[in-house]
Amino acid sequence: MDLKALIREIPDFPRPGVSFKDITTVMRDPAALAYIIRSMARRFRDERIEMVVGVESRGFALGSPLAYELGAGFVLIRKPGKLPADKIRVEYELEYGMDALEIHKDALAPGQRVLMVDDLLATGGTMGAAARLVQQLGAQIVGFAFLIELAYLGGRQRLEAMGFDSDRILA
Ligand code: AMP
Repeated sequence: MDLKALIREIPDFPRPGVSFKDITTVMRDPAALAYIIRSMARRFRDERIEMVVGVESRGFALGSPLAYELGAGFVLIRKPGKLPADKIRVEYELEYGMDALEIHKDALAPGQRVLMVDDLLATGGTMGAAARLVQQLGAQIVGFAFLIELAYLGGRQRLEAMGFDSDRILA
């Protein structure tokens, strides 16, 4: 299926020079949505995934049906100030300034087998920070799934530098 044709590109959003990959146009297509979730599930079907972890907010849209498909639970990593219970936070650098992500302290158990999900891998800053949160809770990251990879921004290499194998990064 030609998913690329279904992803809408918005030039200069949210700021000049950025070509925004809008996945709303692919997610509203029932056949494309089924294809995406089934393809991701097929890759990790035999990996005994116990928890899928989605990164706010498009990682939720893909991660939750993927968790269901894999028979796993679903955990949210959120922007600061959204999670209500005891949590840990990680800060990370953006192109301009800093951002942060949070996870509930009781979201994952040590050793739990986790699949990390977001819509898009660019520099890997976001997913690298999310992975650190999961590692701080002692869970085991088995792999990563993205719908889109902007390979020229080096996110894959960044995750590899953290010790993750490229063949466990699906994009
Ligand atoms: P990065 O941390 O650089 O890997 O950026 C990945 C995060 O930023 C993901 O959560 C994406 O949803 C978002 N993102 C980065 N670049 C784009 C883009 N060109 N189009 C849409 N989303 C993007």
